[in-house]
Amino acid sequence: MRHRTTLLAFFAVATVLASAAYVTGQGTQPPMPTGATAITSTPEHFDPVAATSAYLAKVPPDKKAKSDAYFEGGYWLILWDFLASSFVFILLLATGWSARMRDWAERVTRFKPIHTFIYWAEFLVFISVLTFPLGVYEGFVREHKYGLATQTFGPWLGDQLKGLAVGLVFGGLLMMALYGIVRRLPRTWWIWGAATSLVFLTFFALIAPVYVAPLFNKYTRLEDPAIRDPILSMARANGISAKDVYVQDASRQSTRISAFVTGFLGTERIVLNDNLLKRCSLAEIEAVMGHEMGHYVMHHAYKGLMFFGIIMVLAFAFLSRSSEWALKRWGDKWRTHSAGDLAALPLFAFLILTYLFVLTPIDNSYSRTEEYEADIFGLNAARLPDAEAEVDLKLADYRKLDPGTLEEIIFYDHPSGRVRIYAAMRWKAEHLHELGNRE
Ligand SMILES: [Zn+2]
Repeated sequence: MRHRTTLLAFFAVATVLASAAYVTGQGTQPPMPTGATAITSTPEHFDPVAATSAYLAKVPPDKKAKSDAYFEGGYWLILWDFLASSFVFILLLATGWSARMRDWAERVTRFKPIHTFIYWAEFLVFISVLTFPLGVYEGFVREHKYGLATQTFGPWLGDQLKGLAVGLVFGGLLMMALYGIVRRLPRTWWIWGAATSLVFLTFFALIAPVYVAPLFNKYTRLEDPAIRDPILSMARANGISAKDVYVQDASRQSTRISAFVTGFLGTERIVLNDNLLKRCSLAEIEAVMGHEMGHYVMHHAYKGLMFFGIIMVLAFAFLSRSSEWALKRWGDKWRTHSAGDLAALPLFAFLILTYLFVLTPIDNSYSRTEEYEADIFGLNAARLPDAEAEVDLKLADYRKLDPGTLEEIIFYDHPSGRVRIYAAMRWKAEHLHELGNRE
């Protein structure tokens, strides 16, 4: 499922929270120790830096160039998405269409919450139609060009429409709640709005694995004991009481390998996708699942909610100040004068989008740090550093392996292949004596 950067950024964040994990982890780039340090600490003269370079050298140059091009293209798409959506929001305001959409919603019924829902539906359809060409390029054409997509256009479009329906229902409910608050509490709405959004998104993250994810993919129990039992054994060893492992038919949409531990408060599931099953050895699958279990054991879903709570409060504080200023200045032209007026929604969408755009490196760094933690946990749980390194190379299908430090801080929501392989080799260097018959 791909997420456009619209107001639905809310839902993107919720989904990120719900699927607290992708494949393996992240972290700030560790300084590369000198070979000398590595050698003195290990009797067998295993040099993690050299071992890392040897792994990276396994990727043929043409494959590396393709993966770099795909991932770097993604940097530009962050910008184009932001500019395209901003353009549509400002267009809605400046042409007075937003005011007309509000007037029309108010003619249909007398009930204010229904006005909100109708306006939201108009708004969502409008931005979806106008950003559709970019969406097709980004989510369909480009994915096929790089051999990452498996869907034909019809099923892909079907998934987009399902996503739109989910956004319509859940977004509509959230908007009805938020506008109720803004109208009743004109001075303190931003505090209550942030709290309501957080509660709502927590609820969404809770139910999404059970009620939303199955709209897009089938989840079946993994029956093969040769794979299931080692995973469940590792789960028990780390205090996770899961009795089943689920397989997601991700090959319906793409060739990417992925796994996640999703949900919380009883909706947790250990999920691995069928691409992972098809393309990886048992050792590699165990290495990935060790990482995913790290997310669970270290409560990354809850910590993510806390982090998101802070982002939300700051976002609403910013919305409150900046929207007041903008409405004073351009309200006459846009025919909307207060935060409680539906016609001002594109302004809020533009402001929140700008806020999230600016925060991209912070968001990514938060995620990357947790992913790196999960990597370290996974190495200790699965004890399969070479399998981990092999998986990291497979992830290079869609993630540039060896970026610059600043590039990684700004754009990477997972650590780069180099950082992850180095972490695995560093772990291996310190455990050589006990690895004899494990790998
Ligand atoms: Zn992860």
